[in-house]
Amino acid sequence: MIIDPTVIVADYIIQVSTVFRPKTANILGSFHVWKKGGWFGNADELMKFCPAMGCKGLFSDSFELPDEVVDKIGKDNIDNIPAWPKKYQVMYENWFVSPVMCPECGQIEIRENLPDTYGFNMEALQIGERMAEFFSLLGGTTDVYMVRTKEKSLFHKAKDMLHGSDYRFSEYKKTLEQARERDCVFYPLKSIINDTTNGSDLARRFKALLEA
Ligand SMILES: [Zn+2]
Repeated sequence: MIIDPTVIVADYIIQVSTVFRPKTANILGSFHVWKKGGWFGNADELMKFCPAMGCKGLFSDSFELPDEVVDKIGKDNIDNIPAWPKKYQVMYENWFVSPVMCPECGQIEIRENLPDTYGFNMEALQIGERMAEFFSLLGGTTDVYMVRTKEKSLFHKAKDMLHGSDYRFSEYKKTLEQARERDCVFYPLKSIINDTTNGSDLARRFKALLEA
């Protein structure tokens, strides 16, 4: 299939935050994965990771009603929980404490224990390879956003910002870009496709961006 890069729109954003440390081979940082325009009020949604070591399993974190229920209660009532059928109200109440199975490795975990951050301390090529793996796992419809900072506390600050109930990626991105001491690179899907149509290796392309 030939994808026209001028019309394609990404469904996800892979965010790569790294800390600048001179004279070290390994890069310290973390991944976040955003699903664009989630379900409640169209806010962007932060995906959850499988907690198993090295597993790249991802979980969507939004509770979705079946289509026939939405048809019955009407689209305006989608986020009006008291208007839902009792059965789904109960399901929603138990949603965060229910077990979920990783689609990649089969590990069972309680939903509220799933991490939303995937930390790493690896060489640039390994990080690039991990990014390329997430990229293909997400069906290749992903923008990449890279944030490099000199302070380690960014991760804590970013985490506080991320945990707002309807936080939008665009606002988060703006705030980070305004902050000093940070380099941010937004690498949209169309550029990724343009840069790799000649068969050049995606992992090496990401590695070059990390080291730029
Ligand atoms: Zn897993």
